[in-house]
Amino acid sequence: MSILDFAKGNQKFQNVKFKENEQKYLRLVKEGQHPKALFIGCSDSRVLPESIVAAKPGDLFIVRNIGNFVPPYKPDNDFHSTASAIEYAVSVLNVEHIIVCGHSHCGACAALYQDLEDKPELIHTKKWLELGQKAKEVALVADGGTPQTTEKVSILFQLENLMTYPEVKRRVESNNLLIHGWYYTLESGKIEYYDDEKSRFMPLNEEDVCK
Ligand SMILES: [Zn+2]
Repeated sequence: MSILDFAKGNQKFQNVKFKENEQKYLRLVKEGQHPKALFIGCSDSRVLPESIVAAKPGDLFIVRNIGNFVPPYKPDNDFHSTASAIEYAVSVLNVEHIIVCGHSHCGACAALYQDLEDKPELIHTKKWLELGQKAKEVALVADGGTPQTTEKVSILFQLENLMTYPEVKRRVESNNLLIHGWYYTLESGKIEYYDDEKSRFMPLNEEDVCK
């Protein structure tokens, strides 16, 4: 895809998809957005949040970053993009669900096993990847650190970090918010969810979502 293709794509979008759903788009402008879920996903170009769950405009509030990491709550004077999205989704939009969605072939999880020491051009990435270190340590012990184990264990640590946000914790404990750990497989398009009772990832079926 070149930039010209993107321009053509927007023309096509305006003429077809936008036209088909014009009333819905205009209603969302008039009434504002009321998404039910915050989706925390990876920036990976192969993982398209709306596409993999067939979501429509207004359905998902999305934050994507390298590795679908959730930094722990840290109320200082720095810039916290992901934390700000969580805060807004929970306290302003009152989302009922937060989904942390990892995926197979995640470059961020692979990079946990690479040495970025001599790469000053990746200074922010190196720091950011610290959020996956605990997952790497657990995965190394579990099975020598395979990609899938690292990716899946990381999701659980990110859910743990999510609970360090006081408002998230409060709403989860009062049953006003549910948090979900999902794993998307690039090769099949399938999503698995983490089942707390079984302590493992299971295929995501309709009946499981209501739990
Ligand atoms: Zn990724």
